[in-house]
Amino acid sequence: MATRGARPPAWRILVAGGGPPGLALALALVRDLGEAVSVSVLDPAFARTQTDGRAYALSAAAAGFLHRIGAWDGLATEPITAMTITDSRIGDAVRPDYLTFGDGLGALGYMVEAADLQDALAGACRSAGIALEAVGADGFSADSFGLDVATSDGGSRRVALLVAGDGGRSRLRELAGIGFVGRRYRQAGLVATIAHERPHCGRAVQHFLPAGPFALLPLPDRDGLHRSSIVWTEDERLARTLLGLPEPEIVAAVEQRSGPELGAVRLLTPLSAHPLALGLARAYRAERLALIGDAAHQIHPLAGQGLNLGLADAEALAHRVGEAVRLGLDPGAAPVLRAYERDRRADAVALAAATDGLNRLFSNDVLPVRVLRDIGLGLVDRAPGLKGFLQRRAAGVAQELR
Ligand SMILES: Cc1cc2nc3c(=O)[nH]c(=O)nc-3n(C[C@H](O)[C@H](O)[C@H](O)COP(=O)(O)OP(=O)(O)OC[C@H]3O[C@@H](n4cnc5c(N)ncnc54)[C@H](O)[C@@H]3O)c2cc1C
Repeated sequence: MATRGARPPAWRILVAGGGPPGLALALALVRDLGEAVSVSVLDPAFARTQTDGRAYALSAAAAGFLHRIGAWDGLATEPITAMTITDSRIGDAVRPDYLTFGDGLGALGYMVEAADLQDALAGACRSAGIALEAVGADGFSADSFGLDVATSDGGSRRVALLVAGDGGRSRLRELAGIGFVGRRYRQAGLVATIAHERPHCGRAVQHFLPAGPFALLPLPDRDGLHRSSIVWTEDERLARTLLGLPEPEIVAAVEQRSGPELGAVRLLTPLSAHPLALGLARAYRAERLALIGDAAHQIHPLAGQGLNLGLADAEALAHRVGEAVRLGLDPGAAPVLRAYERDRRADAVALAAATDGLNRLFSNDVLPVRVLRDIGLGLVDRAPGLKGFLQRRAAGVAQELR
């Protein structure tokens, strides 16, 4: 017999995938709803330490969300105070700046290292009592009242909602029968952390080179070293060759692309390569299942927006689940997930199209195309309204205003 005044049982929510979107969602739910929900995050990768030197450019909107859920304070970040875009060939002696952002009006975004962000989010989750379990979600079956998840340790959980944050090649998305449309770019994203002689002064630089963009992104100084993250897009085959080169040759190739401003360079992490793809899920939901992060959308990293989209998914889903739970409604019910999908799909479609278009426009060396795009960049630089819009969009303010 129920005791008078006893709390109703907590809604059980399982997040499969412990990347930043999955962890941020779990944290947002528990911070907002307390004991009304019981949230666990499953990821076999919790048993491993992150080793690649990836860093993220986070928008002001993403930073605000991380701050609200208690994962920002204490995180080592570097504000991006200026951004320069150039368009040239590797050997060009002069690289004119076609477009510059940042007029002392504050940060355009913030750089954070992936390992630091992961540690901050995982630490905040543990402090909030969220179980982080080093197992995978292998399968599931849903009915009108709940969803059973089979885990890689042979166990099974019954939950109200399963959130698939299991990345671009999401197995759960496939099992749910949700199509993923897109294609592989024949490019790889080469990533490393470098130390350099001279300070970056908070400036991010994007060199559009014929094989793809080469970005230099400012990191906080550490151990007395000036540091930056590089994201270097290359033809897939050439990327494989580059990975096999001795370190001095890799450093020479980086210096050739980064130009003279930062002085001599050395690698602080080995170069790692990530295959690049474009993909959009045909739906963000199935019965009692929601997709977030790269499981829902994969975009080219040239605008540094993939994780920003994933964090915005987490915030939107936490908001819709919160609304339902406060009203005593089932958070895994179709109307909740439909509302989440409506909130988020258009943003991902717009960014996927924009980054795909930019990649096509810039990753080629056809002279008339180069001339036209350089005129275009120069015009944007001289049109304060358009430039201001692009600057606000990059910071994620457009998302906040919706
Ligand atoms: C070169 C490069 C540079 C980038 N730079 C930026 C940037 O500057 N800014 C930005 O916003 N974005 C950037 N991105 C995009 C960003 O890295 C991704 O959007 C982000 O990592 C996606 O996170 P995710 O957790 O959704 O997916 P993933 O990072 O793929 O993580 C998925 C997780 O799910 C786990 N998993 C898989 N299967 C299961 C299962 N069955 N059960 C449980 N767990 C499972 C995996 O172990 C993994 O930990 C960049 C991407 C690349 C390639």
